[in-house]
Amino acid sequence: MRLDVVTIFPEYLEPLNVSLVGKARANGLLDVRVHDLRGWAHDRHHTVDDTPYGGGPGMVMKAGPWGEALDWVLGSGTPDHEPVLVVPTPSGVPFTQELAVRLSRCSWLVFAPARYEGIDRRVVEEYRDRLGAERVLEVSIGDYVLAGGEAPVLVMAEAVARLLPGVLGNAESHRDDSFAPGPMADLLEGPVYTKPPQWRGRAVPEVLVSGHHGRIARWRRDEALRRTADHRPDLIRRCDPAALDRHDRET
Ligand code: SAM
Repeated sequence: MRLDVVTIFPEYLEPLNVSLVGKARANGLLDVRVHDLRGWAHDRHHTVDDTPYGGGPGMVMKAGPWGEALDWVLGSGTPDHEPVLVVPTPSGVPFTQELAVRLSRCSWLVFAPARYEGIDRRVVEEYRDRLGAERVLEVSIGDYVLAGGEAPVLVMAEAVARLLPGVLGNAESHRDDSFAPGPMADLLEGPVYTKPPQWRGRAVPEVLVSGHHGRIARWRRDEALRRTADHRPDLIRRCDPAALDRHDRET
């Protein structure tokens, strides 16, 4: 997968060099290219923002530099890579595991993280017209407002990268994650334990050392239900008990 980021803070994306994403880059599974938006701002001060039309506080990112930057990045592709432009914004569609899975199936993601009050609206309109509405996504990572879109890019890049074939050591390891597609998609993952069996007088639940796979699967399902009911009552309402029972029988 190719992943481009256009930003006024290229250094903010340095975490893409470490851990899982860094390893995926080193192994050639991920081609990350970070571009400084100010390279496409041609005045002496490399200005990328201006006052908003209609008045009001804050500044708006200018269409000019964004248009030139995105034209250049999108023009640097090859015919076998169809780009998807991802614009982080608190007013976008929610970033979910389902969307992460969808993005992980794309061959090329271009991220346009903003600062200030966001990017002049005409930029999204321009690339929707050129790439098609389904290839320009405005995405929110949660119901809160950050100072810029770089942290959302790091969040989305990591969530997507760990789903790429070959990135996780064990391809099965995201199968049981919270929100993983399947009958447990609306359940949070339950608690996990490792050695030693006793720590400060606290024992690992007996069922986990029983070696009985059916009982373990049932326990994990119950714990997932309990945790979801406690932390996310909105999710538990969407659960289909019949699908969970079927899943139990099959594991
Ligand atoms: N005035 C904007 C609003 O209320 O929607 C907020 C702008 S915010 C200060 C600046 C930039 O940070 C946004 O354009 C976006 O790129 C990024 N950002 C902030 N919060 C975000 C979120 N929850 N999800 C995705 N991007 C976010």
